[in-house]
Amino acid sequence: MEPKKPTKKILMFPWLAFGHISPFIQLAKHLSNTFEIHLCSSPVNLQSIQSKLPRTPSNPIHLLHLNLPPSPELPPHMHSTNGLPLRLIPTLLNAFDKAAPDFTSILHKLNPDLLITDMFQPWAVHSAAALNIPAVFFLVVGAGTFSHSVHSVLHHGVDFPFPELDLQNHWLFKRHQNDPSDSSVGVATSRFLQLVKDLEVYSDVVLVNSFMEIESKYIDYLSVLFKKKVVPVGPLVALSDEKSDVLDWLDQKEPKSTVYVSFGSEYYLSNEDRAELAMGLEMSGANFIWVIRFGKGESVGIREALPEGFIERVGERGLVVDGWAPQMGILKHTSIGGFVCHCGWNSVVEAAVNAVPIIALPMQLDQPFHGKVAVAAGVAVEAARGVDGAVQREGVAKAIKEVLFEKKGEELSGKAKEICESLKVKDGKNIDTCVVEISRILESGKN
Ligand code: UDP
Repeated sequence: MEPKKPTKKILMFPWLAFGHISPFIQLAKHLSNTFEIHLCSSPVNLQSIQSKLPRTPSNPIHLLHLNLPPSPELPPHMHSTNGLPLRLIPTLLNAFDKAAPDFTSILHKLNPDLLITDMFQPWAVHSAAALNIPAVFFLVVGAGTFSHSVHSVLHHGVDFPFPELDLQNHWLFKRHQNDPSDSSVGVATSRFLQLVKDLEVYSDVVLVNSFMEIESKYIDYLSVLFKKKVVPVGPLVALSDEKSDVLDWLDQKEPKSTVYVSFGSEYYLSNEDRAELAMGLEMSGANFIWVIRFGKGESVGIREALPEGFIERVGERGLVVDGWAPQMGILKHTSIGGFVCHCGWNSVVEAAVNAVPIIALPMQLDQPFHGKVAVAAGVAVEAARGVDGAVQREGVAKAIKEVLFEKKGEELSGKAKEICESLKVKDGKNIDTCVVEISRILESGKN
């Protein structure tokens, strides 16, 4: 018998960053077993989304082009945060806002039964509401980080109930305060205020890429703050069965002998931080895989970007990868014993799913919060650094040694394994709950 065709249509709409698109794709894949799924993004992002979808899916995910107007300040067709310096993010947000009319015409044509949307495009829920289409927000950052921000807006001046996330004196905030050219925080703050209002008014439930095993108290608190159900739908991670030279290299190493070092899809280390990190890796005595990325226009070769003689000195102990590595496959590999991580939320989730302890080196935005959440969950240590956040070789080497060669590492691994086991037992129950909640909204029909 032919499987029943889904009758309800859902339009999913992530922000233009890889770290946002990736969990949206994973959620889309799950939901496509029950609903007809459409996903909308800029053409450059759709190309990479297409490559991440199964070639012969039983339930296709329909991709829809959103046309963003050209902007003289952005590289041509660069309607993605990938490779874009942080200072140009407000420009990309402006271009994104100008796509609102095109988004409305997509809504008109498709007439979905529900919109699942991200946090940076308030106009999306407004357009949907004008057409009586219900909307649900899907938060792709951790619940700890998000509840801290919501608390600051709704209960300004009142202490956040979880002191481990009080980062007022953190070097990152001082750095933002001292940099008048950095408008990203101001822009994010005004968008955030709008988001909190819209979440209260438009979203019946709130979905978050998290799970109780790592963030229960923050998920519960978020629900208290919004006075509505917060549904943890995580962990949402891509499955990885790619073949790669990096994995072949790891096959030659002893179990848990190697750290994986990466700063995600958007951050580029300064020359000073890169040099200190290199020296720290060298001093640690551990094997390592280090993914180095350069921003657009930085045409430096890997060898010139590293301290003189570094590659020769570390020899077989280290593998430096230019640009991109198969992160999920690496974290799954038995030779990996730790992850020197910028604490992007997807990376934290991916480390947890693979029971890999984290050595936290957060760099920007919400990353310090995610790092603290991972430390509080008992799966991370932070590398000590300079007062202004500068990476320091001693801090890096000490934290790596602790995780790979000392008792602390066993404790973190033990906790990480516990979380992992509990997730295996649960096996997709979070997605089931999400489907139930969405079905309930769909049954109550358009507003
Ligand atoms: N990633 C990858 N290979 C790389 C760098 C990153 O596969 O060389 C993936 C990683 O697995 C994660 C995402 O890119 O899924 C990065 O998201 P995250 O939230 O950790 O950080 P962001 O890029 O948003 O700062």
